[in-house]
Amino acid sequence: MRILIVEDEEGIASFVGKGLRAEGFSVDWAADDRKGLWLAKTNTYDLIVLDIKLPEKDGIEICRELRKEKKTLPIIMLTVKSETATKVEALNAGADDYLTKPFSFEELLARIRALLRRPETIVGPKLKVNDLELDTLSHTVVRGSKSIQLSKKEFTLLEYFMRNAGITLTRNMILEHVWDMNVDPFTNTVDVHVRFLREKIDSRHRRKLLHTIHGIGYKME
Ligand code: CA
Repeated sequence: MRILIVEDEEGIASFVGKGLRAEGFSVDWAADDRKGLWLAKTNTYDLIVLDIKLPEKDGIEICRELRKEKKTLPIIMLTVKSETATKVEALNAGADDYLTKPFSFEELLARIRALLRRPETIVGPKLKVNDLELDTLSHTVVRGSKSIQLSKKEFTLLEYFMRNAGITLTRNMILEHVWDMNVDPFTNTVDVHVRFLREKIDSRHRRKLLHTIHGIGYKME
């Protein structure tokens, strides 16, 4: 899952970014409204963490603009203590949730997970495809009765596949959701990671779950 942080305070952005990366998310950071809007419109994010107080346009305006463009992704707004009016304004502008500074990383993470769980097809923190099960909270993967050790990237990749089970995902989609903007789009990094992942989840099983769709990408089924 890929997250955009729009926040001018470098300390907060780096604290949130580090934490999210450690949890296996891909993270991009924009320090001002212009870069934030541009990234949000150009890339495909699964969620935006949006600070309300930015140097020029504020978070509320950015939120409104994104909603006007029919961007439906979850947005969590960071507000400052005891500004009730602002919170109401944030929700009215289309934010899904807000968090008051100072906040703990654990709380932000819990809210992010709650928002990412929202799609109707996903019930609870566990994803299941056939006998493969991924727990987004404990970061464990089990196939049958055997637990599988994955690297952070492999875990994120598998989570993306499982959330989109039955859908063919192009290399570009995978790149956009699982990697951050520093990845070179011309490398074969997706294929390499899929190969590693497949080795771990499929190689010892007769029934394969991760399929290559020739000329397009991959599908988990
Ligand atoms: Ca700020």
